[in-house]
Amino acid sequence: MTTARPDIVGTLAAVQNSIAAAAREAGRDPAEVTLVAVAKTHGADRAEAALAAGHRVFGENRVQEAQGKWPALRERYPDLELHLIGPLQSNKAADAVALFDVIETVDRPKLAAALAKEMDRQNRRPSCLIQVNTGEEPQKAGVPPAEADAFIAHCRDAVGLPVTGVMCIPPFEDEPSPHFALLREIARRNDLPMVSMGMSGDYPIAVQQGATHVRVGSAIFGERPTPPKS
Ligand SMILES: *Cc1c(COP(=O)(O)O)cnc(C)c1O
Repeated sequence: MTTARPDIVGTLAAVQNSIAAAAREAGRDPAEVTLVAVAKTHGADRAEAALAAGHRVFGENRVQEAQGKWPALRERYPDLELHLIGPLQSNKAADAVALFDVIETVDRPKLAAALAKEMDRQNRRPSCLIQVNTGEEPQKAGVPPAEADAFIAHCRDAVGLPVTGVMCIPPFEDEPSPHFALLREIARRNDLPMVSMGMSGDYPIAVQQGATHVRVGSAIFGERPTPPKS
């Protein structure tokens, strides 16, 4: 089955407009919010359409898929910024450090240590976000909210990672606002500038709640052939 090809120039502009409207409504400067266009499962041609339209910030949830797609695109668009938004195995830390500019899913000491070691070895320091499991779902990645401050301090001070923010994926069935508010508060009290929250279904709410980065896939690139894995 093939999915319909969306007009990516049009969908990108529509999402950017909704972000700007939500920001203004909340009394925020739209320039404070960065759209991370999530290209997972879609071919390089769709990512390229977004690049040609002037977009530069993208998200992928699998290291291997990203490795097959982005090095060639980066040759043509050296100023693009790539975010890892999916779970990362410690044994893929080297690949992740080499490829990504922002790693949004740091959530355990073993991974933090592996990333720090690779950053030293490669002399490359992608920004790290701490994933918080705001809904405390047993099957979901992320540190529990009650452990977030301690884990952030561990990564920053003991391990020496360049921690710049936090990220969450609220439970699918929940009203997202309280989760977004909780994540923003964790960022505020830890002095972290980046707050990554909000997807196609709820990014205007996330912008209202203080997101600095929203991760939007299907609203830009169309439905994915398989359900999202996160
Ligand atoms: C897939 C994914 C997104 C984007 O989801 P859409 O609903 O398609 O916008 C955002 N964040 C994470 C972590 C994802 O895995």
